[in-house]
Amino acid sequence: MTILLDTVVGQATAIETLRRALGNDRVHHAYLFDGPEGVGRELAAFGFAQALVCERRSAPPAGPSLFGGAEAPADPADKSSACGACSACTRAMPRADAQGRPIHPDIVVLERGLYEPGLIGRKTPESQDISIDQVRTLVLARAAFGPHEGRAKVFIVRRAEELSTSAANALLKTLEEPLDRTHFILLSAHPDVLLPTIRSRTLRIRFAPLGESLVTKLLTERGVEAAMAATLAHRANGSIGQALALADATAAEAATSFTQRALAAVASKDFTLALDLAGDAKKAKAELEMHLAAFSAALAAEGRTRALAGDPTATAYAHRHELALRALRELDGNAAPALVVESMLSAMRAAR
Ligand SMILES: [Zn+2]
Repeated sequence: MTILLDTVVGQATAIETLRRALGNDRVHHAYLFDGPEGVGRELAAFGFAQALVCERRSAPPAGPSLFGGAEAPADPADKSSACGACSACTRAMPRADAQGRPIHPDIVVLERGLYEPGLIGRKTPESQDISIDQVRTLVLARAAFGPHEGRAKVFIVRRAEELSTSAANALLKTLEEPLDRTHFILLSAHPDVLLPTIRSRTLRIRFAPLGESLVTKLLTERGVEAAMAATLAHRANGSIGQALALADATAAEAATSFTQRALAAVASKDFTLALDLAGDAKKAKAELEMHLAAFSAALAAEGRTRALAGDPTATAYAHRHELALRALRELDGNAAPALVVESMLSAMRAAR
């Protein structure tokens, strides 16, 4: 069970504004979530949408009480949050296997290039902007029918500043004549680029950059080592999204460097390089696992390339690949990381 709005961190003011709107039944028909990339705007948009489509939030008023007397007033706290557990709430969760879109039919994401051209009535990909075709197919053709499941319909526009002028003007028409239970959430890091007419018809909610200490904390929670987390947080300009991308890039760099050092250790005359690498592996098992996996993949790829070229050294790479996989299994079986690296490199050297 996940209440998405509860998972947005460091944006108390924005989230409070959204909850209040939900609690008071004063949800605006069009919002502009403005702020840098990677600070929680999109998560907040999905959280708000989840609350709007939730099947249990603000249940219809109960019939007259059996015992007569006044009915208990509805608890406003119930209205300000999704239940997080009903079928609609579950389907409102963004999914990694669907480009971060939810599968709920009443939560529709618009983004440049998100849909195959054929699906939105185009022949060419949207390389420049969010086209009028996308707005026509996804918004204009559907908005008139109202929500599929009766609660609300929510359109979320990623990088709304990329709307083409004709797309923005088409959207504007629906913003000027809002439809019942239909809501728009425009996400933008560059709201000044939006048409002034669009800006004036949306309610602006600001999402601030996150504090460095918060980004550091979020990174360590995701397994990034403390000193590295602090360095990355400092470089990330208050964006957890950017910090995670930097962490990924750093991890990829480290894996590449491990592969290069391992290959040099195998080729080298003496065993010093191998011992150095084994010494460095002492510290972190999880990290070594990633490096070994990358090393093994690099060996397999090199082996395939050489085999295709008819190069007889291909078998040596296949053998090294086997040894790298064996090292991974040993690590998995709780062998000491340094020993795993040392014996792998030593076996590879013996087979030169
Ligand atoms: Zn729910």
